[in-house]
Amino acid sequence: MKKWFRIAGLVSVLFLPALLFAQQSTELPALKQEAVTEVDRLQTFTQQMVDQIFSYSELGFQEFETSRYVTGILEKNGFRVERGVAGIPTAWVATYGSGKPMIAYITDLDCIPRASQKPGVAYHDPLIEGAPGHGEGHNSGMAVNITAALVLKKLMEGHKIAGTIKIFPGVAEEILGSKAFYVRAGFFKDVDIVLGTHVWHEFSTSYGTGDGKWSGLVSVQYFFHGKAAHAAGAPWDGRSALDGVSLMNAGWEFRREHLRLQQRSHYVIINGGDQPNVVPSEAAGWYYFRELDYPHIKSLYEIGNTMADAAAQMSDTTVNRKLVGSAWPTHFNKVIAEWQQKNIEQVGMPRWSEADQMLAKALQKEIGAKVEGLKDKVAPLSEPVKEPIGGGSDDVGDISWNVPTVYLMYPANIPNLPGHSWANAVAMATPIAHKGSTAGAKVQAMTALDFLLQPELVKQAWDYFRSVQTKEIHYESFLAPEDKPAIEMNKEKMEKFLPQLKKYYYDPAKYKSYLEQLGITYPTVKAQP
Ligand SMILES: [Zn+2]
Repeated sequence: MKKWFRIAGLVSVLFLPALLFAQQSTELPALKQEAVTEVDRLQTFTQQMVDQIFSYSELGFQEFETSRYVTGILEKNGFRVERGVAGIPTAWVATYGSGKPMIAYITDLDCIPRASQKPGVAYHDPLIEGAPGHGEGHNSGMAVNITAALVLKKLMEGHKIAGTIKIFPGVAEEILGSKAFYVRAGFFKDVDIVLGTHVWHEFSTSYGTGDGKWSGLVSVQYFFHGKAAHAAGAPWDGRSALDGVSLMNAGWEFRREHLRLQQRSHYVIINGGDQPNVVPSEAAGWYYFRELDYPHIKSLYEIGNTMADAAAQMSDTTVNRKLVGSAWPTHFNKVIAEWQQKNIEQVGMPRWSEADQMLAKALQKEIGAKVEGLKDKVAPLSEPVKEPIGGGSDDVGDISWNVPTVYLMYPANIPNLPGHSWANAVAMATPIAHKGSTAGAKVQAMTALDFLLQPELVKQAWDYFRSVQTKEIHYESFLAPEDKPAIEMNKEKMEKFLPQLKKYYYDPAKYKSYLEQLGITYPTVKAQP
């Protein structure tokens, strides 16, 4: 008997890592179940975060209330928080635990200009006319990640699971303003995998180029400088900076015909002068140059610069430019996506109520979209398309080329909406967003557990990253060493609306939900004929 024990002891010492691993693997389903139960227990907490951040409605680089609120919660729950990182006042890093594996959560914070909208109302009805609003649904992402992180911390403590959890905010994602700077600051040097998340109407994940509807981009502002003069009395003495902007735009429209079909480019005039009888001495345009890969984005950017210089010559003005954002096209990790997909399937879609479906259908009808309500099945993991066509961008792309990364899309919004508009804000402080965020938090926690308990998966993810994804393509930042985060952006817009917005901040001590605080009947739809 004694001898048997001695041998067993020896065996377990020799094979300790293997045994430990086997034990952890069998523990995994139980731990995941515990995570699901814990996330469910935090439903009210998740709902309050979704509603609170919705009510802050802060534009990119001005996410001061949101960041204060979120980092406060993290600190209170035992995370170490470092604020004002990477030269961005609203950026921060929260950390829990120590050692490997190191898993990072990231999601965006900012909202959309002029997208103010009363939640739960299926037609355009702004809370504050002209104010910013969560017309993309970024208000729900932090609720997903923080709920997941708190649950994970509890499990790690309770079950003595080693590893580090980091949480990052996607500051100013709508202007692709922060993540390339995070990479440049070295935030991801020791990170093993990144679990990003983003609001969507489907419950899905993808790898590689996914559905092919992603582009990379550079976002550049061109400042033209002329000479002021009386526009009627002495126009010959003036040189119009607005002419420079207009000629650049006209030139770009002609050139557009001779660009690859995969490109997307668009501009706005951010300064068109002051009044017609003064020849504008200052004017500026803002361009997004989108393409499918680094060389094509770079070449588009160079054509833009040539166009700007030529327009300055024609108008006898001068021009200088400022890069205000950039993003690599995203490439997500196959290994992480496959494990994440299993978790999505296990969690399944939230159970939508009749009221949820009524809101969704009424909004779809109102905006002339296909009326089909909310999705009731999770999306399958599909093979990446062979020929991407391009589309929107996300600066998580830069991270995805530095660390194995995925993006969990969680079902917190209504299908068939135009994006970046008031319509996309309608569901974002209603049970649709609340339930979708809870579902998302479950998958975020479960996928982290997969990688914390099976360290060989980290290796597999890196194998894909090294031998497939980056075999021929190597990351090179669009940022020049002198480029700085455009932290002054949106300052005036935000200051203008802040006093009004403050009146509508959600108070969870008084009201169960934001809908209750606003006195909105859920759902509010136009009377059916
Ligand atoms: Zn977004």
